[in-house]
Amino acid sequence: MVRKAAKKKTSAKPGRSLRILISNDDGVMSPGIKALTRVAETLSDDVWVVAPDVEQSAASHSLTVRRPLRIKKLAPRRFSVDGTPTDCVMLAVLQVLEDKAPDLVLSGFNNGSNLAEDIAHSGTVAAASMGAVLGIPSIALSQVTTLGHKTKWSTAETLAPGLIRKLMAAQWARDSLINVNFPDLVTASVKGVWVTCQGRRRVRETITQSSDPFGRPYFWIGGPRTDKSASKVSDITAINEGAVSVTPLRLDLTQEKMLSSLRKVLG
Ligand code: MN
Repeated sequence: MVRKAAKKKTSAKPGRSLRILISNDDGVMSPGIKALTRVAETLSDDVWVVAPDVEQSAASHSLTVRRPLRIKKLAPRRFSVDGTPTDCVMLAVLQVLEDKAPDLVLSGFNNGSNLAEDIAHSGTVAAASMGAVLGIPSIALSQVTTLGHKTKWSTAETLAPGLIRKLMAAQWARDSLINVNFPDLVTASVKGVWVTCQGRRRVRETITQSSDPFGRPYFWIGGPRTDKSASKVSDITAINEGAVSVTPLRLDLTQEKMLSSLRKVLG
């Protein structure tokens, strides 16, 4: 989608009527979605928010199919759904905005990174994937944080408007989405924007085992993981170097290198 960058406060410009849908996985009340909404409002006058009523991080592509979903109107163009990020984008496009589909889906700003294999679990990326499934250019945006430090929302909020404008001017392949991560630095210290590939960590997913007050064992997945950057220019490398990471992703997960060997075995 190619669009001329709209100047501020020129509501007559065509860009001001660009319909933007915002969702996330941290919930409708999170500071990240409020910052992203302010960013979208610098790009358009037609900004809609449809997001989970409570935090849904790591919800991935879950779709709620075993119970009804409720949409709650919080304010003009602001809605919450008692479901997952994927539910929100689907209901937003097919129900709330059925009169006119969004031109752009923005998901975020997530509180924390969505890099490398995080992408498989990420509710933030899943919301953008749903946008792509529905044929809408979609961008997932995350602000990297360090445990125990305050999230530097101002970095994402300052850098996102220019970045989103540029991404919208790019050529988008079909069935694609873009995953953006902002480094955990103040804006002035950010070292540019890198176009990256999805990285790979040497996953050492910490499983903590302990006992509950009744002496029963429990397991807790999460905690620190060792970052081992891939050899290519990866999202992890960009963030480690203090740059914004921009990774184009595709919906089609087919491993083409295995098609012929599987056909041989199964044919
Ligand atoms: Mn989250």
